[in-house]
Amino acid sequence: MTKKRILTGDRPSGPLHLGHYVGSLKNRVKLQYEYDTFVIIADVQALTIHFEHPGILKENVRQVCLDYLGVGLDPKACTIFIQSAVPEIAELTVIYSLLVSANSLRHNPTIKTEAQEYGLGESLSYGFLGYPVSQAADITFCKAHLVPVGADQAPVVEVTRKIVRRFNELYGETLVVPEIMIGDVGRLVGTDGSAKMSKTLKNCIYLSDPPEVVAKQLSTAMTDPARIHVTDPGHPEVCNVFSYQKAFNPDFIPELEESCRAGRIGCVACKKTLIQAVNELLEPVRERRRYYEAHPDLISDILTAGIKRAREVGAETMSDVRRAMKIDYF
Ligand code: ATP
Ligand code: MG
Repeated sequence: MTKKRILTGDRPSGPLHLGHYVGSLKNRVKLQYEYDTFVIIADVQALTIHFEHPGILKENVRQVCLDYLGVGLDPKACTIFIQSAVPEIAELTVIYSLLVSANSLRHNPTIKTEAQEYGLGESLSYGFLGYPVSQAADITFCKAHLVPVGADQAPVVEVTRKIVRRFNELYGETLVVPEIMIGDVGRLVGTDGSAKMSKTLKNCIYLSDPPEVVAKQLSTAMTDPARIHVTDPGHPEVCNVFSYQKAFNPDFIPELEESCRAGRIGCVACKKTLIQAVNELLEPVRERRRYYEAHPDLISDILTAGIKRAREVGAETMSDVRRAMKIDYF
């Protein structure tokens, strides 16, 4: 039996961080042998925000690829490719743009939040407004069944599901309606303790950060603001560092929660255990990264092979789409 497919990915707007890990990467690594896994480096989607500085993409594509290999995505099992190198995705985007109302995009909660975060206001472009449509093309060009992403992407994947249903209704069963899969922690908060950890907001701990940077970032991360003295009772439910402990040091949680509420453990000691846990998680990632950094040709080979396979699969889907829509003229 042929395997079901996964499609997921990231914008190469910077290196990947712990939020990506818990939101999506962890599930990709876990499922890569069970599913035929496609991982997209969404450079065109990154341009919706960074079109004035396209020069940042080249190095970030390499960094994101190193992060993938670092966390343990196996290039023998996964098809890792670059969005702009697969023109079938652009073709599908044009077709899908007919099946979605401009108003529903304007009211999409993710588009609204991100437009505000990036301060787009009146300058919000047609391309940014339409990125959920282009993402529908990313997901369906390989007829993916499953999309492992962070919680912020749920309303965007919903647009794909609607487009696919509409397409199948109008032109006959052709495409697959994908399911969303959100990671253990759907939304990891940034070190500032307010917004989502995000490349653009610069409140991140990167998977490529060396141990001393991880230590520095975590030692200055926001904790329970009401706690001034070590002996003050803590409130784990409002503490950002406690949410990191839950994500990266789960075995310590019952003991930590009790000691924190009783004012028996201070924030400095608590952070020390967290720093150790995060660095333990990242050590093998750093090691694999170092290997690939020392073998840059391997990265080019992996991406070239990924693009080749993605284009073959995309051509099959385009041919099905053309036939369904009766635009296969010759
Ligand atoms: P940008 O600021 O450019 O949007 P980003 O940090 O939000 O960057 P994306 O490339 O947009 O990263 O997201 C890639 C994937 O990682 C998506 O599935 C997204 O849901 C997930 N993700 C990103 N940030 C987090 C987070 N803080 N917690 C959980 N998942 C996240
Ligand atoms: Mg994002």
